[in-house]
Amino acid sequence: MLTFHNTLTRKNEPFKPLKAKSVGVYSCGPTVYNYPHIGNYRAYVFVDLLKRYILYKGYKVKHVMNITDVDDKTIRDSQKEGISLKEFCSRYEKAFFEDLESLNILPADKYPRATEYINEMVAMAKSLMEKGLAYKGEDGSIYYNIRKFRDYGKLANIDLNKLKAGASGRVKKDEYAKDDVQDFALWKAYDAADGDVFWNTEIGKGRPGWHIECSAMSIKNLGKTFDIHCGGIDLIFPHHQNEIAQSEGYTGKKFVNYWLHNEWLLVNGQKMSKSLGNFYTLRDVLSKGYSPIAVRYLLLSTHYGQQLNFTFEGIDAAKASIDRLNELVRKLRDVKITNKKSVLLKNEISAAEKAFEAAMDNDLNISEALAAVFELVKGINHHIDSGTLNKSSAAAVLKLLKKFDSVLGVIDFGSEGKLGRDVQKLIDQRESLRKEKRFAEADKIRAQLLQRGIQLDDTPEGVRWKKV
Ligand code: AMP
Ligand code: ZN
Repeated sequence: MLTFHNTLTRKNEPFKPLKAKSVGVYSCGPTVYNYPHIGNYRAYVFVDLLKRYILYKGYKVKHVMNITDVDDKTIRDSQKEGISLKEFCSRYEKAFFEDLESLNILPADKYPRATEYINEMVAMAKSLMEKGLAYKGEDGSIYYNIRKFRDYGKLANIDLNKLKAGASGRVKKDEYAKDDVQDFALWKAYDAADGDVFWNTEIGKGRPGWHIECSAMSIKNLGKTFDIHCGGIDLIFPHHQNEIAQSEGYTGKKFVNYWLHNEWLLVNGQKMSKSLGNFYTLRDVLSKGYSPIAVRYLLLSTHYGQQLNFTFEGIDAAKASIDRLNELVRKLRDVKITNKKSVLLKNEISAAEKAFEAAMDNDLNISEALAAVFELVKGINHHIDSGTLNKSSAAAVLKLLKKFDSVLGVIDFGSEGKLGRDVQKLIDQRESLRKEKRFAEADKIRAQLLQRGIQLDDTPEGVRWKKV
């Protein structure tokens, strides 16, 4: 039975979707104001693992991931560069999608942009005012009165009654610290610092607050109540708590049944973050010659609820694990013997499958699941080396590896004459770097490919490759 650790109840719970066959998943997407670092990608790789395992269990998934293309940070930084908000955000949005592809993350069914949902946000803010849950401040901004929402604090386990009187002020900025629980802005009245970023609406001239963006986009695309909502643990409070207050205040219904949050990717014991300056973008890592699939493996191979320390040795170890899997695939394809039988094999295969599923069913216990995979790899290698594997058993093992890989997304089943996925991704990566005129980084990738026996030639028709 599939179980998840639900942040809302702080328990492992059996997963019961609202509909028998399909699951709605919303994950908070990027604020497109820079290149995400690999800590951010831990959050997106986690959602990918979750989604792939739900698909493995036979459900359909409707996955929605928002793009925040208007907030304090996008406005601030687009102004610094002197370009329009749209131009600024679309640059980073494009980079984000390229990164998702190189990490072999399955695309979401929908990527709503905040700026395309202003009407929905205005309707919500208006309705929350009519219900007495929100009020207009002197500056014309609209704030949510958190004391009017009975369950405020439940998700983050914060007891409002224990707060000192007067601690609850009002905050117009999008992010604030966990300790200062405050009324937050649903709608921010225009001020001159916003430049040309504003909407004239029936609740005034201004722009939405960050939190309401996710409420509006998730409800519109997944309904008033949906199954799973994900994000990093920093989003539990205030972002997700505020989403609950807005959405439940607006619809009068339970917003989300299961809240799943991923822990930090650390560097030397500290959270990898933009503000601490201890971050690597995916591009930084790839330009050092590491493969995106190895980064994917590293990010997914520790349980999402545990912290994971990032090191380059960790990527090397991830690569070694992937190499073992790819090597086995190659050997299995080479198995020629047809007349020998191994009686043990059927048992070994089904034991591996059961162990993998039992581990993943238990709140996606990936370390145990991978242990089951590598136990199988070890056993099969032994059979191959001792010549006791016949062709039909080899095919059965290959089939199981493909099934496992529908969840893991790391094995290269590419056939001869075709480029492996890793190599193709590197070529694509180099192309985008060249387009951005980042030639030094592009050249590094070319040199790295040459070392792997792939020579690139830039022709007027585009890049060509050959094996050397
Ligand atoms: P942001 O663009 O800052 O909203 O972050 C996007 C996602 O990345 C959020 O779900 C964050 O919780 C997550 N995130 C940010 N830093 C890290 C980190 N060091 N480790 C894991 N997740 C992170
Ligand atoms: Zn969100």
